[in-house]
Amino acid sequence: MKRIALRSATIWILVLVLLGGLGFFLFEYFMYGDQWVISQGSPHIYSGENIDTGIVLDRDGILLLDTSDNRTYSATKELRASMVHWLGDRNGSVSAPAIAHYAKEMAGFDVLTGVYSGTEGGRATLTMSAKLQLAALQAMGEYKGTLAMYNYKTGELLCAVTAPNYDPDDVPDIESDETGAYEGMYMNRFTQSVYIPGSIFKIVTTAAALEEIEDIREQTFTCTGVQEYGTKDVTCEHIHGELDFDGILAQSCNCAFAQVVEQLGRKKLEKYVEKYNITEPIYFDGIATAAGNFDLEDCAPVQVAWSGIGQHKDQINPCRFLTFMGTIANDGIETTPHLMQSITCSGEETYRGQGSIGERIMPVEVAQELQRMMRNNVEEKYGLENFPELTVCAKTGTAQVGGDQNSNAMFAGFVTDEAHPIAFFVAVEDAGYGRQVCVPIINEVLQAYLEAF
Ligand SMILES: [Zn+2]
Repeated sequence: MKRIALRSATIWILVLVLLGGLGFFLFEYFMYGDQWVISQGSPHIYSGENIDTGIVLDRDGILLLDTSDNRTYSATKELRASMVHWLGDRNGSVSAPAIAHYAKEMAGFDVLTGVYSGTEGGRATLTMSAKLQLAALQAMGEYKGTLAMYNYKTGELLCAVTAPNYDPDDVPDIESDETGAYEGMYMNRFTQSVYIPGSIFKIVTTAAALEEIEDIREQTFTCTGVQEYGTKDVTCEHIHGELDFDGILAQSCNCAFAQVVEQLGRKKLEKYVEKYNITEPIYFDGIATAAGNFDLEDCAPVQVAWSGIGQHKDQINPCRFLTFMGTIANDGIETTPHLMQSITCSGEETYRGQGSIGERIMPVEVAQELQRMMRNNVEEKYGLENFPELTVCAKTGTAQVGGDQNSNAMFAGFVTDEAHPIAFFVAVEDAGYGRQVCVPIINEVLQAYLEAF
């Protein structure tokens, strides 16, 4: 009798352990099942590094990627190359964080029925336009760099091309290349790179001066070609002579900007770089952009001056600077970009992207004054005829990078027409002067935009 009682007690203990384990499993399953199924390496959803379920379309419904059968990319070589930094490649050399971020919505995991992508699969629609990606790719030609455009009202990223790029259906022999043509090819320069801004940074200094120096608009500045600091001077390539505040931005006069920086002082300059989030990463669709740099520690006055001119140790991320352009155009309210428009799974909408409308970071009158001054740049310096049909406001930059490389050419700005709320940014590496190189490139994409929208 004693033995039977012992046995039944043992069985009861085993049953309790089993039930406890089952309960624990079910709890974990319901709580974390969706994460298990989308975890890296889940064979249902991934092939290698990149998500492998459903299809990805551009904003007009053009197929960019079908992952249902070993990744089929879009039909044209150029479109495949222009999108590789967003969609990833087959072996995961280029990752696609935005698509991977929505694995759950794409796979349509349900705790009762499991992964139901098998029936129809996810359909992700991006904010990007294939037409604009192709135009941007073509406009960049053989240059390295990045070109992007977004809607500063909605946050929709309309195009963002990185060069060099490659066709994931025809991967070049990068290993044995000695020309350097593929250098940095796997990096999404728009989100992950930083550049010395050069003169496009003068917009930041101009904004700070408008906020801090009451009579800045009434001041005149004299450029003799050299602003002396004892050891290393600030210089201009030409003697600009006497200029008003509009003039110093249009002529991009280093000497005058050194004088503005002297009036502002180091602390105020730092304050506005922080206030406008110039060096802060941006987070969207599971992507974190690279942080910029603005460092005035242990700086001599001449270095502080060069910092306000976009040299010294200044570094900016393209996505962040594009957003800053959007902020000025949007009268001082920051709208961060996003890439994912919507996702449906088996006919049901599982995600809808929204622009993240941020806070006001700049007074409306300062933003509007910057719009006017950047419009004046185009009228006085870059040529209205170079931007037909659109009210373009912009600033060029020519950033010296040292070594035997040519300068990086930069161009940042926006359109103020009510019907076309777009901001743009382009960085062209090893290219020369901002105005000569970037103006025709950006206009080519703006004209494609007018055709497409
Ligand atoms: Zn000057």
